[in-house]
Amino acid sequence: MDQPPPDVAALDESDPLAAQRAKFSLPDGIVYLDGNSLGALPVAAMERVARVVRREWGEGLIRSWNAHDWIGLPGRVGAKIAGLIGAGPGEVVAADSTSVNLFKLIAAAMALRPGRSEIVGELGNFPTDLYMIEGASWFSAGRHRLRGCAAADLVAAIDDQTALVVLSQVHYKTGAVWDMASVTLAAHAAGALVLWDLSHSAGALAVDLNASDADLAVGCGYKFLNGGPGAPAFLYVASRHQEQARTPLSGWMGHARPFDFTDSYEAGEGVRRFLCGTPGIIGMSALDAALDVMLAVDIAAIQHKGRALGDLFIALVEQRCAGFGLELACPRDASRRGSQVSFRHPHGYEIMQALVDAGVIGDFRAPDILRFGFAPLYIRYEDVWRAVATLRDILVTGAWRAPDYAVRRAVT
Ligand SMILES: *Cc1c(COP(=O)(O)O)cnc(C)c1O
Repeated sequence: MDQPPPDVAALDESDPLAAQRAKFSLPDGIVYLDGNSLGALPVAAMERVARVVRREWGEGLIRSWNAHDWIGLPGRVGAKIAGLIGAGPGEVVAADSTSVNLFKLIAAAMALRPGRSEIVGELGNFPTDLYMIEGASWFSAGRHRLRGCAAADLVAAIDDQTALVVLSQVHYKTGAVWDMASVTLAAHAAGALVLWDLSHSAGALAVDLNASDADLAVGCGYKFLNGGPGAPAFLYVASRHQEQARTPLSGWMGHARPFDFTDSYEAGEGVRRFLCGTPGIIGMSALDAALDVMLAVDIAAIQHKGRALGDLFIALVEQRCAGFGLELACPRDASRRGSQVSFRHPHGYEIMQALVDAGVIGDFRAPDILRFGFAPLYIRYEDVWRAVATLRDILVTGAWRAPDYAVRRAVT
């Protein structure tokens, strides 16, 4: 393949984050534009997991709960994540999955706003967010219901029946970004709380929960935070709500004194009460090590480069792949977009399969979206150029028409 033109090479040469790429273990010959779905492997995470398994588990055995402070890991990891999302260190813990954390905080919010019956959610949001509202509503024995709204109608739907608004700050498919401060302000004006899902924001955008007066938040550990497949997720509860907020999953790890082994539950201090059972130490250790890589650089620089990578990708696709039916499906204005770009195409699935086969890994979201994520710590401008050159090649040759590429697999 041709070499990238000098203007693209110059962007990499002047990139202040260029040195970060060496901290990741990336396969040769692959352009990885799916770090928004599963972040790449940090070398430090690989080494940490090896040490935790061999030494801390293998040799330390149960002593490591104290000797290596495994018991404090959810709080320590939470405090690191807090530093990335504009929260105080005592407002975040790492625990469970994003879906489970949604349930815990939706239920907590219902109890914080008694007498209100509706949870407002965005139609077309990542499905688990809507499903968990449905589940929590069912569990409330009909006292609550999901009010699903299109994005354009959502803020106007918040009223005196709204207990909670659940929103993803960055839309998983279109990359569109909600203005956290203004939506939170509107919800508070109606007496409602807001739960922000930061799955596609944490580690990519300069989120500021405290400055936005946010109430509650959850997010994913395995996307831009690079914690590994199925990494622990996190949750945030603003300190002003912590005294009143209760978790419906009152497991012993959230108890005030788990090792007193008393018969009745007493909620622990602060956000720690939202822990449930014993944390998976191997996975949480990988996330802990991955976070150190991210915390070594400025999140504003990450956000800035993510926008620039996306802008370059859009410009190159529109120049070099014009006339092949691709239609931009994300905001063109980078300040209104997450660190991802989407294009619509009626044969999006087949085109993405052909791209993956050619070493450019993005993903497909039904019914017709080709999605490309730009993880600024390890993606170069050169990679963006190569991805578009490969896409152009596939469109020009029609390589995507090979019958194998139309076979749907379990994970898209
Ligand atoms: C990825 C993602 C999740 C993932 O939830 P899991 O419980 O980890 O499967 C949840 N919400 C949003 C918005 C996501 O993008």
